[in-house]
Formats: sequence, structure tokens, C-alpha cells
Amino acid sequence: MNHEIHSNIDSRLNKGYLMLYKSLQDAQSTAENCLDESEQAAYFRGLINSRILLALIALNKGELDLARERITLIEEELNASSSVSEDSQMRISHARAIYFLDSGVYKDSFSAFVQCGNMAVRTGNNLFQLLSANGKGVIKLDQMEFRDAFDYFRVARSYLEEETLSPMDTVLSLNMACALNGMERYDEAFERLEMALDEAEKEESPALECAILDEIGKNLIKQEKLEDAKIYLEKAFDKIRLHEQRDAYVQVLYTYSTLLLKLGEYGKAEDLLKGIDDDRKLNVDPIMYHQVAAEIYEQKGDFKKALDSFKEIHRISETFRSSDVLHSVFKQEKRELQDQNHRLSLVSTIGQELVATLDLGEILNLIYAQMNVLMPVDLLTVATVDGNNINIKFTLNRGERIEPFTIHKENPDSVLAWCVRNEKEVFIRSIDSEVSAYVRNITLMEGENKSLLESVICIPLMNLGRLEGVLSVQARDPFSYSSQDLDNLRALAPFVGIAVKNAIQTEQMSELNKVLKYQSATDSLTGLLNRREFIKQSVNILRICRRNDFPIALIMIDLDHFKIVNDTYGHLAGDEVLKSFSRLLSRYFKRPLDCVGRYGGEELIVLAGDLKAEEAAARLELLREEFSAVEFKEGDSVFKVNFSCGIFGEVPESDDRGHLADITALADRYLYRAKESGRNCSYLSDDGDKPAEKFIFSKS
Ligand code: GH3
Ligand code: MG
Ligand code: MG
Repeated sequence: MNHEIHSNIDSRLNKGYLMLYKSLQDAQSTAENCLDESEQAAYFRGLINSRILLALIALNKGELDLARERITLIEEELNASSSVSEDSQMRISHARAIYFLDSGVYKDSFSAFVQCGNMAVRTGNNLFQLLSANGKGVIKLDQMEFRDAFDYFRVARSYLEEETLSPMDTVLSLNMACALNGMERYDEAFERLEMALDEAEKEESPALECAILDEIGKNLIKQEKLEDAKIYLEKAFDKIRLHEQRDAYVQVLYTYSTLLLKLGEYGKAEDLLKGIDDDRKLNVDPIMYHQVAAEIYEQKGDFKKALDSFKEIHRISETFRSSDVLHSVFKQEKRELQDQNHRLSLVSTIGQELVATLDLGEILNLIYAQMNVLMPVDLLTVATVDGNNINIKFTLNRGERIEPFTIHKENPDSVLAWCVRNEKEVFIRSIDSEVSAYVRNITLMEGENKSLLESVICIPLMNLGRLEGVLSVQARDPFSYSSQDLDNLRALAPFVGIAVKNAIQTEQMSELNKVLKYQSATDSLTGLLNRREFIKQSVNILRICRRNDFPIALIMIDLDHFKIVNDTYGHLAGDEVLKSFSRLLSRYFKRPLDCVGRYGGEELIVLAGDLKAEEAAARLELLREEFSAVEFKEGDSVFKVNFSCGIFGEVPESDDRGHLADITALADRYLYRAKESGRNCSYLSDDGDKPAEKFIFSKS
């Protein structure tokens, strides 16, 4: 509470300063324009600008109702006018932003600043780009989002021009230091503040000096350097008395009383309060006064007096509460809470849907669709980390899937690689000013889509303290993401991590399953089906052929004198022969209704569906011719191998396993006949009832 009040005073002081400075400049240049006489529009602008100036002065004096009246009046006039220049619209947006900021309606203020900033970009007005970024920073400061605030001030600073260098540079330094103090980076804050103080002294700007001295005081109090803090704060008091700085007075008073309370000097703190009573001419805001008083009395243990102060705050607030401003603040707060609630339930819904899905592509589509409800996502990337490789598994570029690719972890030109190396989030609001912190040279970036890199968030996906991947969103407009979006992504990241892991494991499992299935179905030496699998598939082929009245040929094949091959050239040479023959056999019987297996040893079996026995025999003779030309070498020797076949043909009437066994036995019998009749030939029968008499011979 105290902090909020305080940063409000800070911001009003800083803002007022910037505003006044800018407005006076404007008034002057507008007046110059009017001297030209030729331009009606310039006159109109001059008029509007003076009104805006009046509204800003009212804001600066804390007269919110008056300011609002003036702004409304200007808006009405602008609406009535046919040709409103973008310049005027920009200025009024700015005034509105300040009005909402002072009223505490942050959301409306922020969007007015955004509007103003966009118009400033279009009209090429650096000053208003600066003011708009600074305004956003002040809002973030008030909302205690210090990192955001700091970044906005840094952006504001990038618009500084030579002639506006001071005192804006000093104001921005002060604002940045406030943000650094908020981030507890006290040393950096102190360094900046000291430099800013030098500048402010040179510029003879007491309001700024007081604000800086006060911030130094706060900084030193946080660092427990209480005596040093005292010196700076007393210096601030001197300045305030000398220059009658109303805002700074309350501000420093508050910091000083904090210090006194920390030092246990309650009496002195009380004296301070009495001093305020004497200094009524400084016109201290009564709520501020009682805030300080209540805190002092509470610390001192004088609860009755503390209570009196609280009651007084309550009484003043009650009269305030009826005003439109407060009403809209409450309404706004309620809306923001509802918003936040909605976002959280959305994140949780996405999370639940994610972990219920096992398909990686589906997961990505889901994230993409749902995420776009929360924030603009032009490019969505899910990467997994495998040693030094970052596998960009999934990239959706505005809904279009991009082929997976891999980048090296040490790639100095990739934001994802930075995220993986450092195991830290990447949060880029606008590449121009921020990307250099992450990559060496954006134009060298490979694979990642540069044109979409205006706004980027990368979140490391961690599991049990181990980095397993990265989730990244990108948008083509700068400043697309807020810290709220970062929070949402953070909340979503663990779900994404689990979902991706599940999906990858499932994928690996099904790969493994395929391998296992293949291994359990085939013979490792020849790669042909093993006996069990051959029987399984053959039964299916038999069924198809029975139903369609297709003929089948069942072929048993045995290599001739294979024992001699083994004995003469060795078992390994025998293996080579077997492999070579199996490859050839598979090539000759590779139609969808063909099925080739290893029956056992060097005995092979083929079921050819939709093929007559004679056709099968003819095909085998072609095979025989090709195989007879194959020469095997072992050491200095060269040898050839023959084979014998028994072929049984029919149009199957049955397709059960028993029938398959029966016809296999028949084919085996014909094989035996072939062996008996001198080998290197086929015996066939296309009639189950008669013994095989047909004889195709091909002895070489
Ligand atoms: P036949 O012409 O009568 O068939 O004579 P064969 O010597 O081939 O006799 P048989 O078919 O009975 O012998 C099979 C031989 O094949 C026995 C075995 O050593 C050999 N054999 C079986 N499986 C393999 C194998 O996987 N690799 C090798 N190198 N030899 C095998
Ligand atoms: Mg044999
Ligand atoms: Mg054999």
C-alpha cells in the first residue's frame, strides 16, 4: 500500500515534468506556426494544444475532475471537426493516458499510451514515442512489475534526441533506477541515481533533485545503510524548504519517517508530523498525511492515535468513493480480476487437454489454437534437447507446419540455443532494442524465422531439474507480449513438457514395437518369414483365394547336397549361399498374395496365391536359370549350388491350418520325388487326388 502511494507520487512528479516540458515546447512551435497565418489547421491545432496543456496542468495539480472535463471537451471538439490531424489525436490520447494513470485506471491508461505510441510511430514523432514508452513504464512501476518497467524505460531512452537530451535523460535515469530498486539491484540503481543527481544539479531542477535524493534514500534504507540514507534525505528536505516542492515534500517525508521508524526514533518521527502541521502552506495531500501518521503511531504503539488516522483516511475515502473516478477504478479492478480468472481457467483447460493427448502433431495444433486465445502467436515452436542438439520437432508458422530441423546448442545466432545454454527464459518485446542480449547477429540466424522475431518468449521445459526442451512463441508485431503472457506460458510449460515427453515416448514405443514385431516374425539369417509367421499369413492368403476361387501353388524348396557345401567350404560359406538364394526367391515371389518363409534348415517354402502350379513351376525355372549363373567363391575355389522343388497346386476349398499342413506334406512329397529323380528339378501336381506326375527338369 505504502509503496503504491509512493510510486504514484514519483510518477506524477516525473510525468508532470515531462509533460510540462513537452507542452511548452509544443505551444511555442504551434504559436510559430500560427504566425504564418496561412494555415487554418495550424491555428486549430494551436487551440487544441493549449487546451491539452491546460488539462495537463490540471492533472499535474491533482485536479482530476477538472482535467477530465477539459479532456472530454477537447474530444468533443475533435469529433466535431472534419479534419482532425493525427498529431492532435496523438496528443489527446496522451492526455487521456495521463488522466487514466492518475485515476489509477491502468488498463485504459496503458491502451491510450499504446494508441499514442502507434500514432507517434506513424507520424515519426520521437518525442511522443518516448513519452508513450515512459508512460507504459510508469504504469508497470506502479503495478510493481519492475522488469517490464525497466525495459519500457530503456525503450523510451532509445528515442532520446540531442535537443531533448536533458532533462528527459535524467528523468529516465531516475525511472530506471526506481525499477532497478524494485528488482533489488541496488548497486546499479545507486550508480545511476548518483549520475542523475549530478545532471539534475547542473540543470538546476529542484523537483528532480528532490525525487532523486528521495530514491537514493530508499535505496540506502533497503541496503541497511541508514546513516547514509539520513544524509541524503536531510539534503532533500533542505531543497524542499528552499524551493517549496509540494509533491517532493510528502514523498521525502514518507521515506524519512520510514527511516526514523527503522532507527526506532519514534519521537523524532512524531516531530516530523508536527512539522507538517506547521507547513500547511505546502498543502499536503490529507490521505498521504494520515498514511504517514498512522504508520508512525502504529510503530510507536500509540494505537489510539493510529486508529484516529485510519478513521480519517476512511472518512476522506468515503467522500471520494462517490466520485466517478473511484467508481471506474473499482469497476476496472473487478474486470481485471475476471480477466485474470478467465485466463487461469483457460490455461488449466489447455493443460488438461494436452496431457490427455499422445500424438505430437495434435498436441502442437492444440497449443497453437488455444494459445491464440490468450496471446497473439504467429510462430509456435516445440523443441527437444538431445545432448548438443536442439531438435526443432514442431514449428507452426501461422498454422502451417514447418519441416523439423536441428540446431546446435552452441549456435550463437539462435535465441532457442541461448535459452538451452543458459536454461533461462528469453523475453524479447522488440528485437531492435533487445535481441543483442541473446544472439550475436540476427541476420545470421539459421532456420528460425527472422521476419517473425519481433516479439519472442522462450520457456525452458524442465523435468526434475533437467532441461528437456523449449517452448517458444513469436509474433510479428513488437510489444505483442506482456509479463502476463509470460506468466501464462510459464503456467502452461510443465503441461507442454509432460505432453511432449509422453508423445515422444509413445512414438519410440511404437517404433520399438515395430522392430520387435519384425524380429519375432522373421528369420534372422535369411530375412524370410519364420515358420510360425508363414503359417499365419498363409492361412489368410488361402482364405482370400478360397473366397475368390483363385488357384494357389504351394512350393517346398531344398538346396541340393548342402551338407557337402558346408563340409567343403565351411558353414559360413553355406550361410552366404542360403542368404543369396533367399534374396533371389523373395524377388521372384513378391506379389501381394505371395508369401515366402524358411521352413527349417535349408528348406524354404512359398505360398503363391492366384497362381497356377504350372505358372509357379515356370517362374521357378526362370529362377533356376538365374541362380545357376551365380558363382560362389571361397578362397581359391568357385562353386555353384542347385535346388529341388515340390509344387502342389489347387483351388483351395478349405483355409484352416490343418489343410495347410496337409498340402505342405503333399508338396514335401513331390520335393522328395524331385530329389529321388536326380535333383536340380521340380515335381508338380495340380490335382490333390493324383500323385504328382508332371516333371519339369532342368539338370545342368
Ligand atoms: P540333399 O540334396 O539331399 O538335400 O542333400 P543335403 O546335403 O542338402 O541334405 P539335407 O537337406 O538333409 O541337409 C541339410 C543340411 O543343411 C544339414 C545342415 O548342416 C545344413 N544346414 C541347415 N541349416 C543351415 C544353415 O542355416 N546354415 C548352413 N550353413 N547350413 C545349414
Ligand atoms: Mg538339402
Ligand atoms: Mg534339407
